[in-house]
Amino acid sequence: MTSRKPLDRYRRIVIKIGSALLVDRKTGLKKSWLDGICADIAGLKAKGVDVLVVSSGAIALGRSVLDLPSGALKLEESQAAAAVGQIALARAWSESLSHDGIVAGQILLTLGDTEERRRYLNARATINQLLKIGAVPIINENDTVATSEIRYGDNDRLAARVATMTGADLLILLSDIDGLYTAPPHLDPDARFLETIAEITPEIEAMAGGAASELSRGGMRTKIDAGKIATGAGCAMIIASGKTDNPLSSIENGARSSWFAPSGTPVTARKTWIAGQLQPAGALHVDEGAVTALGSGKSLLPAGVRSISGQFGRGDTVAVIGPGGREIARGLAGYDADEARQITGRKSSEIEAILGYPGRAAMVHRDDLVMTAYVKTKDEAHA
Ligand code: GLU
Repeated sequence: MTSRKPLDRYRRIVIKIGSALLVDRKTGLKKSWLDGICADIAGLKAKGVDVLVVSSGAIALGRSVLDLPSGALKLEESQAAAAVGQIALARAWSESLSHDGIVAGQILLTLGDTEERRRYLNARATINQLLKIGAVPIINENDTVATSEIRYGDNDRLAARVATMTGADLLILLSDIDGLYTAPPHLDPDARFLETIAEITPEIEAMAGGAASELSRGGMRTKIDAGKIATGAGCAMIIASGKTDNPLSSIENGARSSWFAPSGTPVTARKTWIAGQLQPAGALHVDEGAVTALGSGKSLLPAGVRSISGQFGRGDTVAVIGPGGREIARGLAGYDADEARQITGRKSSEIEAILGYPGRAAMVHRDDLVMTAYVKTKDEAHA
């Protein structure tokens, strides 16, 4: 069952904010609301939680800045509105967060950036670096260049992909909807509110209507799709209303919201996926020291690798083979095969001199690595 726990017990939270919360059709940006959520975010960060924001509102804000009439926009009009609105949106976030001494970093993503392996790894690395330096990534779809075939179109699913990409353990979807009902509440007086959703079954999916307001594209449908992406990757999800001034504090204080339980943890979900890859693209042959290190939960460093076989790209699944020729683990390669060959057996500190750029220290990071055979840990080996 879904257990509700205080937000500061999560490690990494992605917060998706719907356009209607941030932008008023007549008066533009809702500055005091923004200040409120930034204070909430600062509170979480002070308790050591990593926070990422997926903020909608570029098109809505651009419309308001440009004073465009209401009604549907042509593609190039909404792209121009997004171009104008995104600048204002990013500035607003950066200003509001700065009141609490927090730095914001803007990330604009397209579908390809989250779905193509190499670009995915690059986007993930940038976001992780922002989190490492204590900044809050402010993420949106790159609406100015995305056309219908290559776009998400809604930030619910984009936020879910950001959550899975970054190994977040909680996704909060804030909009003008306070959660999931068994039927659309404005149409059906018998509609029941669902506080906890243990699993997204076909019945749950059927409850999601297609409704969306004029300002935002996502309705309950895209929220449930987001839930499937997030919970399947081990990330819990909350749908809550953002209509109050401090919506995260409101959730803490028991405001009505729907909680979706994750299946497993983000790391176990990724590892299950890695272990399930049928055909590794290549293999890394490692020495006994590396086998013991991996058995103790460490990352695979280039120093412990003796040779490389196969052709693979960065992010492809590779097998890790011990000195006896036995496969002991599988993982996602941190380097492509050519680079991996160059740094095989070398110290991590030598990587920059060899490759000409400061690469990552690990050949396979431990979060991207799953043991497929039993090996002794360091302590057991010495016993
Ligand atoms: N990316 C769009 C914007 O910033 C919002 C998409 C959505 O509402 O989900 O205007």
